[in-house]
Amino acid sequence: MTKKKAQKKTKAKKSKVTKKKKTTKKTSSVKKTVKGLDFVYDPAPESKAVVHIQNKYDHFIAGKFVAPNSGKYMKSINPATEEVLTKHAVGDEKDVDRAVKAARVAYEGVWSKMPAEERGRYLYRIARILQERSREFAVAETLDGGKPIKESRDVDIPLAAAHFFYYAGWADKLEYAFPGKSVRSIGVCGQIIPWNFPLLMAAWKLAPALAAGNCVVLKPAEQTSLTAMLLAEVLQEAELPDGVVNIVTGEGPTGAALVAHPDVNKIAFTGSTDIGKLIAKNVAHTTKKLTLELGGKSANIVYEDAAIDQAVEGVVNGIYFNQGHVCCAGSRLLLEESIAKDFLKKLQKRMKTIRVGDPLDKNTDLGAINHKEQWEKIKTLVDQGKEEGGDFYQAECKLPSKGYFFSPCYFAKQSGSSLISRLEIFGPVLSVSTFRTPDEAITKANDTPYGLAAGIWSEKGSKIHKTANGLKAGVIWANTYNKFDPTSPFGGFFESGYGREGGLHGLLPYLEVK
Ligand code: ADP
Repeated sequence: MTKKKAQKKTKAKKSKVTKKKKTTKKTSSVKKTVKGLDFVYDPAPESKAVVHIQNKYDHFIAGKFVAPNSGKYMKSINPATEEVLTKHAVGDEKDVDRAVKAARVAYEGVWSKMPAEERGRYLYRIARILQERSREFAVAETLDGGKPIKESRDVDIPLAAAHFFYYAGWADKLEYAFPGKSVRSIGVCGQIIPWNFPLLMAAWKLAPALAAGNCVVLKPAEQTSLTAMLLAEVLQEAELPDGVVNIVTGEGPTGAALVAHPDVNKIAFTGSTDIGKLIAKNVAHTTKKLTLELGGKSANIVYEDAAIDQAVEGVVNGIYFNQGHVCCAGSRLLLEESIAKDFLKKLQKRMKTIRVGDPLDKNTDLGAINHKEQWEKIKTLVDQGKEEGGDFYQAECKLPSKGYFFSPCYFAKQSGSSLISRLEIFGPVLSVSTFRTPDEAITKANDTPYGLAAGIWSEKGSKIHKTANGLKAGVIWANTYNKFDPTSPFGGFFESGYGREGGLHGLLPYLEVK
């Protein structure tokens, strides 16, 4: 080729590229303006193509996918689009019995006899496969539950893998975990989990149970069973012996059948306080062990000496970024009176910039409310809260026309007995009140039937320690909020339940200690 011809060809190629670029720009130029700000965000959606979702999913029992005894399936809805995503098997007593039997066979025959080091290897393998498939899991979690992709990608999936890694390490070191004691596994554990962190809750429950040498029947939440079924594929890929983990999907009655099964040795439950109490009642006359991780109405206490901008960000992160769908959400804000006015001004400004919308978009901060009933519950409670009086502020966000979306809001100047300040709403709804002294802050923070978590914002270490000592909450964060780590125990006081998950404390409920 002559020099001229080559130049001509490069020029033509370049112009093609430019043309192509131009066309791409044109098609993706739908810009989203964030009200009150002079900059715009182009859409940045994560691809749905990275995950293959089947039309329907069966139970996972004894290492295989098996159809439900009833032949019934329930729809799973994408809350951001209101479209049917897939269907899950509805488990009845026979399915539960089949799963418990498979777990018992695996426990007696394989898992409890296996050298602990080998058990650990399976857990490491599961953790690694989760990491390898993390993008797929993140997209599945977001499609199924409506949470922003940045949360599933950066929190749910990495933390789930981290829990398997952490407990894998303990599998062959149990005698060092509790020195001087002899420990052994319990047997078959029934684990029932909620819809707010589907894969992460499964990991919180499965990893310590398996490391301790138990076998499991897991019942995911009916609204969000997708990643549990993808996890079943991971267990197959890791060649976990059949029956060590069984997954039976379904609604409340499926969970109740698991709780009632006579051959289950331990129940671990995370969910609402009402169902937790019911389960406690139902196992009270049996020898089953029980741990409960229930609701919360956690307080974020901000002192006047705190780094205010960071505290505003922490409050936003604690209640809004996750749609308020966290048991330990900082749903009550206690402000020192001297800074209350300025703090709320800053909070309002920040709330205006929260990006509510398509959960698959990488810019989205606040996604869809997990399901219709929850969305309706939030709306009803907020309407009732407005009738109770006080100051109500809601950020004006342009919400998508379809899907269950709710703009972040807060109530201030309400009485301490108001609905909004007492009930767990599980939505982006904050209750604000003020205090004058640390003692008053502690009294107000403890004025709740719950005791799951709290946050303290101050630059003075002594004030943080004094306040923390007075608080009746299982987890207390200082100058941060909603930070999790597998080595750190999590759990509550009072109506927030009993037992701990995470860390060494999380191993204990899965062991007999002598
Ligand atoms: P939420 O109100 O947040 O949906 P629930 O406590 O109702 O929380 O649900 C948490 C988990 O408990 C779900 O997996 C659900 O299917 C299960 N569940 C609901 N009712 C019962 C019950 N009576 N016994 C056992 N599990 C139940």
